[in-house]
Amino acid sequence: MKKSFAFQLVVFMIWIVCIPLSIYTVYQSYPPNEATNWPLLAGFTALSLLTSAFPAFINGTPFFLTQWVSLALFLRFGLFIEIVVFQISLVPLLYNLKLNRNMLYRIPWNSIMFFLVSLFSGLAFLWLGGDIHSMNTVDIVGYGLLYIVVNITANHALIKISGILLGQRIRFFTIDDTWDYLICTFALPMGLSLYLLGQYVGVLSIILLGIPFYMATRLLQLYTTTSKVNKELSEAAHFGHQLADQLDSEETLDLFIERVPKMVSIDGLYLIDRRQQTGTLSVLRAYENGKQILKNATHKELSHSLLSETIESADKTVFCKREEWLPYSGSFLLPNTQSALVLPFCRNHQLEGVLLLTSRKKNNFQDYQVKMLELISSYFIVSLEKARYVEKAKHSSERCGLTGLYNYRYFEDYLNSKMNELKEHTISNLSLIMLDIDYFKGINDRYGHESGNEILRGLAAVLKREVGEKGTLARYGGEEFVILLPNYTKQQALLLAEKLRERIEMQPFEIVPDLLENVKHLIVHITASIGVSSAYEDTDNATNLLRNADHAMYKGAKEQGRNKVAGF
Ligand code: GH3
Ligand code: MG
Ligand code: MG
Repeated sequence: MKKSFAFQLVVFMIWIVCIPLSIYTVYQSYPPNEATNWPLLAGFTALSLLTSAFPAFINGTPFFLTQWVSLALFLRFGLFIEIVVFQISLVPLLYNLKLNRNMLYRIPWNSIMFFLVSLFSGLAFLWLGGDIHSMNTVDIVGYGLLYIVVNITANHALIKISGILLGQRIRFFTIDDTWDYLICTFALPMGLSLYLLGQYVGVLSIILLGIPFYMATRLLQLYTTTSKVNKELSEAAHFGHQLADQLDSEETLDLFIERVPKMVSIDGLYLIDRRQQTGTLSVLRAYENGKQILKNATHKELSHSLLSETIESADKTVFCKREEWLPYSGSFLLPNTQSALVLPFCRNHQLEGVLLLTSRKKNNFQDYQVKMLELISSYFIVSLEKARYVEKAKHSSERCGLTGLYNYRYFEDYLNSKMNELKEHTISNLSLIMLDIDYFKGINDRYGHESGNEILRGLAAVLKREVGEKGTLARYGGEEFVILLPNYTKQQALLLAEKLRERIEMQPFEIVPDLLENVKHLIVHITASIGVSSAYEDTDNATNLLRNADHAMYKGAKEQGRNKVAGF
């Protein structure tokens, strides 16, 4: 968690003032034994460093199995030395956490926590009557158990308190906490064995216990890594199937953006599109700090950034830390970005785009994750292409090529579905307007077919604007248009029809007549005859609604002199 400079400074100051002084006080109150066995101490220290340098990962959480060495150190050398060695063991532990500049306060912070854990467990042991450097069974087993339990409990309590102080969200008892207490059953016998073996065989005890300990944690780690990889692989396979099922390109993009951050821990995700003809790069989608965002980055910024190697080679690039991508521009990246992974999206050996994932952690992307993401990306690009193809096919099957309006086929299905809604009382009325241009054949004859098309396009645009969200507009035939109006009574539909008729009559259409020589531009006016029918006023049947509107248009408008509106 990012903390202000002032906060970090305060933590450092508290540490500088309190810790050396406290350790000195411990030294005064519980001085170490005169005859310190230095080789054994060095061995115990090495073991302590080893345990904190190689934590065991259980379910992805690092466990630092240091308590058993602490117990042996304490039983043999006393509180002061245990505190000092434990503080030294902090170094590899903090290195493992890969702290960035904003998290440096964790060094003094954890040092204080370590000190308190050592102090509480040691004082509990001593104040309740335990003897160090003893060979008495009660002392070493009973007080040893007490030491370990206090150690784990204090560690827990301090982690929770520290979480509260740092404003993190904490849960009071998690599955990891249970693991900690289970470790107790391991730490006590191991710690006692180390202490006793140390008494009998000295430094050799380090090798006798250190090697089996190291092997056991490696095996545990190997086991948990394998089961983690297996779990993630089956999740990735499921995700792949979900992608393959998508038929909507926007949903495919959303699914990808939503799921990838759940597969790998990342701070930023950017989907970059590359235009086929021009090679222009643009951000298609972006995700930062847990949510989708709008990201503006120019082609220049993107092409000079850390993406450039992948764009050139169409091969993936992995950056483990900031210094590796620093020669490139990272102007659009989140501050403090360290690791980055760039994967190409290729189709037919052409680069279609790239995926950029970033993290504030160094070495964030593990090999198996990169492979998994490559696999998912290839699923993704195929799914996206398929979804776009389906959308295009659907669009062209539903639309008229000349005007872009819905076509007859779409309209009939839509009319049937609305009629069902009316029957189910989802909508209260359903009206239909049918419109036919007057004497259109004459326009074609006079100015040419292409000019007729221009007028049809122009009229479609006028109608689209006028109808807007009120209803659904379609080109029903040659120069016939229909409008379906849910929740419109016949009276309301007649009013709208009259408005449209007037609007068409007023509208000048500019054409370039190819049949008239020497005339470049011409303004033409048209009129239209309109019929209106409504459900349930006139019928409760979809086909009849159309037929009635058509009938009204011919009988009531065309035959009555055209440029008229008629209800059925
Ligand atoms: P009215 O409706 O007033 O009775 O007369 P009209 O001339 O419009 O009559 P009709 O409906 O019989 O003619 C329709 C004409 O529309 C026939 C055809 O030339 C023209 N037409 C149909 N589809 C298209 C098209 O896609 N482009 C062009 N330019 N003309 C078309
Ligand atoms: Mg006509
Ligand atoms: Mg007609």
